[in-house]
Amino acid sequence: MQQDPLHKPTEVKPLSQPLSPPLSGGGGLDKDCDKGCDKGSQSSPLSDGPVPDKGCDEGRDEGSQPSLLQHPQRIGLFGGSFDPVHLGHLLVAQAAREELDLARLFFIPAAQSPFKPDTRPTSAQERLRLLRLALAGKTWCELDEQEISRGGVSYTIDTVHDVASRLPAAQLFYLIGADHLPQLPQWRGAEELARRVEFVAIPRPGQAQRPFPAPFRGRWLAGFPLGVSSSQIRERVKAGRPIEHLVPDAVAEAIRNNRLYL
Ligand code: ATP
Repeated sequence: MQQDPLHKPTEVKPLSQPLSPPLSGGGGLDKDCDKGCDKGSQSSPLSDGPVPDKGCDEGRDEGSQPSLLQHPQRIGLFGGSFDPVHLGHLLVAQAAREELDLARLFFIPAAQSPFKPDTRPTSAQERLRLLRLALAGKTWCELDEQEISRGGVSYTIDTVHDVASRLPAAQLFYLIGADHLPQLPQWRGAEELARRVEFVAIPRPGQAQRPFPAPFRGRWLAGFPLGVSSSQIRERVKAGRPIEHLVPDAVAEAIRNNRLYL
C-alpha cells in the first residue's frame, strides 16, 4: 500500500480489456459468476503451483461454464505488512470472498510499506512463515511474494502491473483499510490505479464510513469489524500477554517458538 506524492506514475500500455468494468451501483455482485468461473483451468501463476479449489465446480456442469470474456475472474488483492498476520486480516479475507464473490484472494506482504518508512518490519522470512501457517488449507487464498522478491519500498501500482500482466482478463479488487482511504489520492500512480482496480474499503472499529476520494471508485465491505492490529499483537507479546484468539493457534505457537516480537 503505497504512496509517493512526488513520483510520476509509471507508464504502461493499456490492457486489451478493462480489468474492472464500471460499478453498476448497489452491491455490484455478479450473481451469475460464482467462485468457479475458471478455476481449475489455469495454474496459479503467483504461487508454487496449481491451487485446486474444491468448491469451484460445485453444482456446475463443465459444458455450461460461462466464458472468461463474459465473466472475468474476480481476484482480490490484500496488501500489508502482516507483521504478524492476525484474525482481523483473516476475517477481512472471508468477508471479501463472500461479499465480492472472489475466485481468489492474494495476500501480498510488503517488503517495506511506504506508510511506515521509519519502521523496519520483522524479516520477510518470518512474516511469510506466519502467513503460510495462517493460510494453510484455505485454497482460495494465495501468498503472493512479489513485493518481497522485488524488495525496497512496495508500491501498489507495481504490484497491480505484475498481476495484470499475469492475469490480463481478471477483474481486480484491492482491499484497503479504512484508515488508509483519505491518503489514496497520494499513492503512486493514483490515476492509473483508479482506472485499473476497484478499491474495497475495510471497516475498522472506530473508523467512519466515508466516500471514496476522487478519482477512486469503490465500495465498502460489511465484514466483521474486529479491533485487532498487528501492533497490538506485537505489544502484547512484548508485555508477556497472551495472544490466543487474536491470531490462529499455529501462528501464536510459531511466534512463541521463534521468539518473535520479544
Ligand atoms: P499495524 O498495527 O502494524 O499498523 P495492521 O494490523 O494495521 O498493522 P497491516 O498488515 O498493516 O496490519 O494491514 C494490512 C491491511 O489490513 C491494511 O489495509 C489494514 O488497514 C487492514 N487491517 C488490519 N487489521 C485490520 C482489522 N482488524 N480490520 C480491518 N482491516 C484491518
